[in-house]
Amino acid sequence: MTTTKSSTTTMCKLLVGGKWIESSAKEFIDVYNPSSGEVIARTPMGGMQDVDKAVQAASKAFVEWKEVPIVERARVMFRFKNLLEASYEELAKCVTREHGKTLPEARASVQRAIEVVEFACGIPSLFFGDSMANIATNVDCETIRHPLGVCAGIAPFNFPAMVPLWMYPIAITCGNTFVLKPSERVPLSSMMIAELLEKAGAPAGVLNIVHGGKDCVNALLEHPDIKAISFVGSTTIAKYIYEQGAKHGKRVQAAGGAKNHIIIMPDADMDHTAQALNASAFGCAGERCMAGSLAIPVGEAADVLMEKLVATASKMKVGRTDVEDKHPDMGPLITSEHLSKVKSMVEKGKSEGAEVLLDGRDLKVQDAPNGFFLGPTIIDRARPSMSVVQDEIFGPVLSVVRAKTIEDAINIGAQCPYGNGAVIFTESGKAAREFKHRFNAGMIGINVGVPASMAWFPFTGWNNSFYGDLHIQGKEGIQFYTQQKMTMTRWFGGGSLAEKFQDPVWKPRKS
Ligand code: NAD
Repeated sequence: MTTTKSSTTTMCKLLVGGKWIESSAKEFIDVYNPSSGEVIARTPMGGMQDVDKAVQAASKAFVEWKEVPIVERARVMFRFKNLLEASYEELAKCVTREHGKTLPEARASVQRAIEVVEFACGIPSLFFGDSMANIATNVDCETIRHPLGVCAGIAPFNFPAMVPLWMYPIAITCGNTFVLKPSERVPLSSMMIAELLEKAGAPAGVLNIVHGGKDCVNALLEHPDIKAISFVGSTTIAKYIYEQGAKHGKRVQAAGGAKNHIIIMPDADMDHTAQALNASAFGCAGERCMAGSLAIPVGEAADVLMEKLVATASKMKVGRTDVEDKHPDMGPLITSEHLSKVKSMVEKGKSEGAEVLLDGRDLKVQDAPNGFFLGPTIIDRARPSMSVVQDEIFGPVLSVVRAKTIEDAINIGAQCPYGNGAVIFTESGKAAREFKHRFNAGMIGINVGVPASMAWFPFTGWNNSFYGDLHIQGKEGIQFYTQQKMTMTRWFGGGSLAEKFQDPVWKPRKS
């Protein structure tokens, strides 16, 4: 049982050494269904006591798990993938309920999560070391990969199923054991998925779950038996995790926030561009680290694009995502606090002189008066120095800066502190090539609205969108969760092999 139900609330439990146990926390926070505003669960805000129990269980499990042949560890992943697929719809509904994404968006996120497990199934083929014979006279050299030990993962709220699965399928298949701290706002999908991993045959203690916020994270950062930390969340916290993790001697990969620029050239196919931009800016209610949140139309692209964009965005149906027969294009934001923060950022843009072309702030959803809804919002004629251009808003808000030339557009990008993704819409190969080569971001889209790396590639954020050396996912993920051991070999033995064969022990048998 992952939760206990009192008369009013469902309390989340910890997963420690294969058992779901109560937290020792004294404080709890509410988990909402953002469509209705109802409390659906409570997350314990644990600290060192809970973390230590989980780390002890993970350390104990590591002793045997690291010795399990890698092909058998991968077989657990094959079974895990099958179970995830069998629970696909149920999982998507859980994501929708605790996060508010539309069901198609939740399904897509579960699909992306399964793809990481598919990648993990293939890790044996990527686990090879290197070898070289006779690197010096009679000396051979080889490297072999070893797991690190207990690794921890700290996840954000915006992809409850997908982001945790960016981490532990790779870590575990590489032979590590894991302690996951899901976002305290969306703990339920992680708990459901952990039960599937157990059914797939992962031994007790290979995956453990703790719950909480700052104290829990600090306990993970400080625990001496944790070797590596994977973090995904906002930039301020990512930087903190990187610094504190390194201070405590851990490997860290910390993915942060973003402001993703979308440049639209006058020769772009404007109908397709408006649709793709709409999906990029407003998909998942803009709560995506790869959301196209800043459009930069170049020259005469602006007028024609803005007209189409406003027309498409105004038609979007915003509504509750937790009711089967409704099919909204966009759901609510995560909490009422976040809704207020996004609204105030729109107001700040307006007060700084930008023009709110489409304002979603007064939206009312009739059958969900207590949901956390905001309609698509477009802020035109922003200037590069404004907060709506510089800061991550993380809601369905698209800021627009009109640029005269591609050079101006690329220069606006150069001033951006983030560096997750950037996109160009154009029919010109030359413009696309120039953009791809010069733009200051780690994931580039050419006529692709959301160029988020899939499981086989690293999630290559740059600048303040990533702290660390080895990114999450792909081959970098395997490097992050392993350390290499180099062995140099030389055999003495006095004399040649021919002489050795005169020795009765070595002498070949005569037939
Ligand atoms: P967040 O930084 O508030 O929280 C992320 C995690 O950090 C949570 O588990 C939370 O409990 C913990 N945390 C929060 N405050 C803390 C503190 N003071 N000390 C220690 N730990 C703390 O992020 P969020 O609001 O949950 O998620 C949204 C953010 O995540 C956005 O900025 C988004 O861009 C980013 N994100 C980035 C990527 C990426 O790949 N770069 C992917 C998804 C989300």
